[in-house]
Amino acid sequence: MRHPVVMGNWKLNGSKEMVSGLIKGLDAALNGVEGVDVAIAPPVMFLDLAQQLLSKADSKIILGAQNVDLHNSGAFTGDISPEMLKEFGASHIIIGHSERREYHHESDAFVAEKFAFLKENGLTPVLCIGESEAQNEAGETVAVCARQLDAVINTQGVEALNGAIIAYEPIWAIGTGKAATADDAQRIHAAIRAHIAAKSEDVAKNVVIQYGGSVKPENAAAYFAQPDIDGALVGGAALDAESFAAIAKAA
Ligand code: PGA
Repeated sequence: MRHPVVMGNWKLNGSKEMVSGLIKGLDAALNGVEGVDVAIAPPVMFLDLAQQLLSKADSKIILGAQNVDLHNSGAFTGDISPEMLKEFGASHIIIGHSERREYHHESDAFVAEKFAFLKENGLTPVLCIGESEAQNEAGETVAVCARQLDAVINTQGVEALNGAIIAYEPIWAIGTGKAATADDAQRIHAAIRAHIAAKSEDVAKNVVIQYGGSVKPENAAAYFAQPDIDGALVGGAALDAESFAAIAKAA
C-alpha cells in the first residue's frame, strides 16, 4: 500500500552554513515522526556535506537531487550522472520540474529519457507534471498532465511508474502563495490516477502522487486528507526546518 512522501526541493538556495543548520534542525524536528517518508533535495554541490551530516546523525531523512543528465561518464561538460548521485547517497531525483522545462527547454520526450535512465540506474524518479495558468483557464489541465505522463508510459510501459513518484505541480501555484484548493487538487489527482488505471489498476493504486505548489504548514493537512494526495513536493517552506517538519507531521 502506498504511503506519503514529503520532499523538500531547495532549488538554487543554500551555503555550507545554511545546509548544516537546516539539516540539523530538520533532523531534530522530525524525531519520532512516522508513517511518512521525508526527503530533501539540496543543490548537488551540497550532497557530500548533506550525506555526511545525515549519516553522522543516523537520520532517516532520504537524500535526493534536483536533476540528472543522460550519461554516466565521458565528454559531457557540466553534466550530473546517476552514478555520482548514488555515490553521494541521493536516491530520489526530481525530473521535469516546470523551471527546468521552461528555462532549459526540457521537452516531455527528454524528461521521459531521464526517467528511463534513472530507473536503469536504480534511482527513484520524482516526475513533475502540471499545467500553466493559461492551460488551466482553458480547461486543459488533465490533458496536459496526461500528455506529460504518456511520454513515459508510451515509451516505457505503464509498469515503469512502479516505484516512481509523480508530483502534480500546477505552475501557477509554484512560489506564488496561490495554492490550488485541496478539492481542486484532489480532482486532478484522481484524474491522473484514473489515466494510469486505464492502463493498469495495480500501478495506479500503488503510485505515489504528490501535490506541489505553495504548500505551507497551514494548508498541508487539507491536502493530505484527500484520498489521492500522497504527500507533497515543497519549495519555499522546505527552507525552514520548523515549517517543513510541520508539513511532514501533517502527512
Ligand atoms: P513552492 O515550490 O512550494 O515554493 O511553491 C514547489 C516546487 O517548485 O516544487
